[in-house]
Amino acid sequence: MITVPKIEMHLAHACTLRCTGCAHYADHGLPGVLPLQDGAAWLTGWGARIRPVTFSFLGGEPLLNRRVPDFLRLARGLWPRARLRLVSNGLLLHRKPELWDVLGETGTTLTVSVHSRDDAYLARLRPNLELARARAAEIGFRLEERDSVEGWYKLYRGSGAAMEPFTDGDPRASWTACTTRHCVTLQDNALWKCPPLAHLPLVASRHGLGDRPSWQPYLRYRPLPLTATADEIRAFFARGPESFCGMCPARHTHFTKSVTGAPAPF
Ligand code: SF4
Ligand code: SF4
Repeated sequence: MITVPKIEMHLAHACTLRCTGCAHYADHGLPGVLPLQDGAAWLTGWGARIRPVTFSFLGGEPLLNRRVPDFLRLARGLWPRARLRLVSNGLLLHRKPELWDVLGETGTTLTVSVHSRDDAYLARLRPNLELARARAAEIGFRLEERDSVEGWYKLYRGSGAAMEPFTDGDPRASWTACTTRHCVTLQDNALWKCPPLAHLPLVASRHGLGDRPSWQPYLRYRPLPLTATADEIRAFFARGPESFCGMCPARHTHFTKSVTGAPAPF
């Protein structure tokens, strides 16, 4: 069993928000939630190989997946000492009364990300945050409120079928500046370097980017399969910048995102 720092996994590609430039491409209207049967097979397989210090379920919006309690119990059973985290935008919390006790039972941290200062958005979120604070105090699970407004940037240029990778030509600088460089992602029963690479095949399929020469170097990325040796797993987690990081910006242009998917200002 190999101890690794951090793994994350989508329970849904879809989301209830469309934050411009989402690093998980949830603003592209990707469909679907992860079936429990598939996710359980991935988790069980990797649970026999690695022991993550932190494991996060997220998306998209993970609460679109009605099997969240099953996923939390399964992960806790596999990794009794892991810091287990559920990352949600919070907008569906009022519809999930069954969630609170499971968070307590599994010792899961609920991280609610806050995406805008917009009044109408905050009016929707506020009651759910108050509900989460009350349940956390009552049941004893840990609640984090994460500001996801400041420092927001896009990892590609353009949008939709016109999206293009960056061409700054300095993958090391892109990796050094990257805020998701430690977010190894479990997807399709394999470990991927980060969310933008893990979910690129899906977004490429949605927009027909598969034949676009500019995306070819990045669509050739191959994740680490479950059949990897222990040395290969250790080497995977020790990788720093790779050529694939060239698709991301070497310098970030921060902007105020729209949570409803309006185009970014570049
Ligand atoms: S809430 Fe926004 S940032 Fe989070 S997954 Fe959905 S679209 Fe992406
Ligand atoms: S490809 Fe590299 S720079 Fe881009 S998001 Fe992944 S780790 Fe970060």
